[in-house]
Amino acid sequence: AFDMLVIGGGPAGASAAVYAARKGIRTGIAAERFGGQVLDTMAIENFISVQYTEGPKMATALEQHVREYDVDIMNLQRATKLIAAKEPGGLVEVQLENGASLKSRSVILSTGARWRQMGVPGEERYRNKGVAYCPHCDGPLYKGKRVAVIGGGNSGVEAAIDLAGIVRHVTLVEFDSRLRADEVLQRKLRSLPNVDIIVSAQSTEVLGDGQKVTGLVYTDRENGGSHNVDLDGIFVQIGLLPNTEWLKGDIELSPRGEIVIDERGATSMPGVFAAGDATTVPYKQIVIAMGAGSTAALSAFDHLIRTSAP
Ligand code: FAD
Repeated sequence: AFDMLVIGGGPAGASAAVYAARKGIRTGIAAERFGGQVLDTMAIENFISVQYTEGPKMATALEQHVREYDVDIMNLQRATKLIAAKEPGGLVEVQLENGASLKSRSVILSTGARWRQMGVPGEERYRNKGVAYCPHCDGPLYKGKRVAVIGGGNSGVEAAIDLAGIVRHVTLVEFDSRLRADEVLQRKLRSLPNVDIIVSAQSTEVLGDGQKVTGLVYTDRENGGSHNVDLDGIFVQIGLLPNTEWLKGDIELSPRGEIVIDERGATSMPGVFAAGDATTVPYKQIVIAMGAGSTAALSAFDHLIRTSAP
């Protein structure tokens, strides 16, 4: 059995594994895809102290750092079930898709999240070539350019306000007949001179020139008319889905499916901690996920020294 078992190999999981291993305890990390969302990222310019790096490079560095220590790395392994310890301080069980079962005195959940996609032609092809999901990450790349934000919920309207301060022009595109964001955000948005709002619009295609995005096609849901908007970038803000479906019923999740944690990273299940985009942490970023991973590992270590047999 492990002392600390980390599920998920993104920035949060890698950080937790390094912190655990440095305590000299038996540490394991199981991940479906080591590197996580970082693997899908091009330029990273907000990882403090590293002015510029690229996702695949950072993913390799994450894995190399973990490999520096005596950590049992189980890549390409998907967890499917979490089972609580039978008694206080006992072993928590994690079942894997391949039928194996891992046991550990403490578990750190860091399975991350994925952005909901529009699912229209061109979106996948121009991902990272104009199609973006994170305004904090990619906003500055569109300085002086024209962008659209898809989605009129809180995250879409926040993104539009944020981007309007950086880019030349923002078009907010909402499927419904009205925006769903908080009134105070909508008021702020409507006060900005370089923002257009289009409602009742179903995005149907991302246009590009083979290299990068050039526009968006949408259908006016009121009269069926098709329209083109010329653009340099499209920020899709229709939801961030935590990878927590496998935990439903076993651990407390928020209405959005995020693992509910306290400020120490503790979850509702004894001995189980969580970190990163899969949790209720307010912002989803690499530096934040790494900090949360170390917090969760230190809290789990604290749990171990308090529950081990004398
Ligand atoms: P993730 O990176 O999502 O990692 C989750 C891990 O869990 C993966 O290894 C995954 O395979 C694994 N996993 C999932 N489910 C299971 C399961 N059931 N069993 C086992 N393993 C599982 N942030 C920045 O700070 N700067 C940026 O420039 C930036 N750009 C971004 C660009 C894009 C295109 C995207 C998508 C995100 C970007 N982000 C950026 C956000 C950043 O990538 C995330 O905040 C960060 O990766 C979260 O780390 P995490 O470890 O919580 O989760």
